[in-house]
Amino acid sequence: MASPTISIVIPVFNEEPNLHTLWERLRQSMSPFDAEGWEVIMVDDGSKDQSLSLLKSIAQRDEHLIVIEFNRNYGQHAAIMQGFQTVASSTQYVITLDADLQNPPEDIPRLITELKKGYEVVGGVRRTRAQNDSFWRRWPSKLVNYVTRKTTGVALTDYGCMLRGYTKSVVEAMLSCDEKSTFIPVLANTFAKSITEVDVGHAPRLHGDSKYGLLALIRLQFDLTTGFSTFPLQMLSGIGILISVGSLGLGIYLLIMRLLGFPDNTNGVFTLFALVFLILGILFLGLGILGEYIGRIYSQVRVRPRSIVKHIHRKTN
Ligand code: UDP
Ligand code: MG
Repeated sequence: MASPTISIVIPVFNEEPNLHTLWERLRQSMSPFDAEGWEVIMVDDGSKDQSLSLLKSIAQRDEHLIVIEFNRNYGQHAAIMQGFQTVASSTQYVITLDADLQNPPEDIPRLITELKKGYEVVGGVRRTRAQNDSFWRRWPSKLVNYVTRKTTGVALTDYGCMLRGYTKSVVEAMLSCDEKSTFIPVLANTFAKSITEVDVGHAPRLHGDSKYGLLALIRLQFDLTTGFSTFPLQMLSGIGILISVGSLGLGIYLLIMRLLGFPDNTNGVFTLFALVFLILGILFLGLGILGEYIGRIYSQVRVRPRSIVKHIHRKTN
């Protein structure tokens, strides 16, 4: 087998009924690349069904497949990161894909075409989602997309679509990040200059259930917001300033009314209001300032690389 230039990374968690078809379709779609060399890295994320033994038996007879076995379930993104770590050193392009056949393997060659054009990240956009996913799986995703776009400042049409392609350098940049919880599509875009998107198919899940319930999505959203922005911390200062200004306004209003000779029929309740809210506002502001410091500590301990050199150009003789 030629040493691989294309690596496909697939996280697998209890996908036994899908794996056989997945492998058949992958082989079919990748056969045009046999000469260039390709490999598939499947990371078994602590499956409780027969996924692992099935994968092992495929790997026994097909050298294109490499199987990584986790000792327990670590989650989709941890699995993909581990897959990244294992890609062949000869690899130039890395594709990620879900194992549940919702992302058609037949679309992989189109991603590779874009990567070969020089794009560093190629994102898939699921166009046919509306019919194929349940309402309850769709609207939280819409919300996730919206909030993520607002808080991370990284504009992607479809954050959840895992059918994506990356150049090796972007993958290496992601690997140099030490953080424990991460979200690969967003992380990738923070390291790429040229990004493009292509429409990809989206089939209903063939077998098994989505591993993401509402709760897991909420957790994911927290990962995203806290992982890529300190916006929530800055919000605290904003709230503090708002409350302070409001209560100051109230205080001034009360003072003017008293100076103009209007009697205070409330025994100073409103004055107390103004005072309490002023203190509350200052407290929030204090929290916000603390937050700013914590945010800086956070980005420091995350040890994300500050910059990544792609090339050093100098005169060659
Ligand atoms: N997955 C994983 N570990 C997990 C959850 C999911 O490796 O803890 C894999 C799963 O096998 C699939 C992919 O991640 O290949 C996406 O999962 P799923 O289809 O359940 O997510 P959805 O399509 O609903 O976003
Ligand atoms: Mg799925």
